[in-house]
Amino acid sequence: ATDAAMPDMGLPPRARIGERWDQVDTPSLMLDLDAFEDNLRTMQALAERHGVALRPHAKAHRCPEVSLRQVALGAQGICCQKVSEAFPFLQAGLRDIHISNEVIGEDKLALLATLARSAQVSVCVDHPEAARALSAALQRHNASLRVLVEIDVGQKRCGVTTPQAAVGLASLVQSLPGLTFAGLQAYHGGAQHKRGMAQRRGACEKAWKLTRQYIDALAAAGISCPVVSGGGTGSAAFDIASGVFTEVQAGSYAFMDADYGSLDWGDDLAFRHSLFMLATVMSRAVPERAILDMGLKSTTAESGMPIPHGIEGVHCVAVNDEHSILAVEPGARIELGDKLRLVPGHCDPTFNLHDELVVVQAGRVHAIWPISARGLSR
Ligand code: PLP
Ligand code: MN
Repeated sequence: ATDAAMPDMGLPPRARIGERWDQVDTPSLMLDLDAFEDNLRTMQALAERHGVALRPHAKAHRCPEVSLRQVALGAQGICCQKVSEAFPFLQAGLRDIHISNEVIGEDKLALLATLARSAQVSVCVDHPEAARALSAALQRHNASLRVLVEIDVGQKRCGVTTPQAAVGLASLVQSLPGLTFAGLQAYHGGAQHKRGMAQRRGACEKAWKLTRQYIDALAAAGISCPVVSGGGTGSAAFDIASGVFTEVQAGSYAFMDADYGSLDWGDDLAFRHSLFMLATVMSRAVPERAILDMGLKSTTAESGMPIPHGIEGVHCVAVNDEHSILAVEPGARIELGDKLRLVPGHCDPTFNLHDELVVVQAGRVHAIWPISARGLSR
């Protein structure tokens, strides 16, 4: 009913404020508010202890209510991955937005210029042609923004691959109207999901060493580099303490999906699972199997199966379009009509399947937050 393009079908709400969590209709995406807020405070405190800014990534959730709470606790601003994704956050009052990505094409550049007229915006560039097109679009729209030159520190995705290229691009950016060179983005996605702490730290150390070479090359060319931005949930604890980054972009830490939960965390920094799929047992035809009323239209499975939470002896073995199949061990207590919480395999694409986040505190529905940027991938 909030989407003007959607006729009001007269469907009842999935959840009512004050009802118990197991009275919520399914499938629903559910947030444990206390665990979520603990996670926000843990990361914020860690960043502050090391004098590093926190700029949490909003692509993990696409929900402005989440970002507002992060900023209220001291986050510098947010990251978005896509230009259109940023607009619901702008509308909600977020005013410091880094597009942690390259933006190519006239339509998107015009949209980015519109964004830059209403907020403090930065964006990544990794090619001289892109910098020129960006500057031209901003001039057409009488706008300006800050630019981070993205460097490839091991992921082999976007980013220039030599310090000379970064210096050349930074000085080009300095010369172009509408653009201010603000520093570097050095994000290493490949480091985030390595199981062992030592493996993750090792990948990060290589990335820091490379990043320092770029910072030194800029300094040698007389170009100051006030911002070095990067890091994700898997590497944040190391990156924050590295002395290399001025700000960290982690997003998933607020929720801890099953994939991140399966990593080795030592006992340094414990984030809690705060995000759950709520599903109903819709078939219990044989003892060894239980079927849930949610599938790939409610949770993604590319990073692993959702994990049943707070119940012993049941494991998710398959996720179909509209069903999930649980293997049930002898003695496990799971009955037709039961409502089950499951930790999703991967939070970002799972959030993008939902319009609403049912927020639960002390076992009862506390609020329903719109996932306003869901589907906004332009
Ligand atoms: N920064 C960039 C550029 C990313 O692509 C990502 C995730 O893929 C992140 C930060 C945040 O990562 P995470 O949600 O794993 O903390
Ligand atoms: Mn992710």
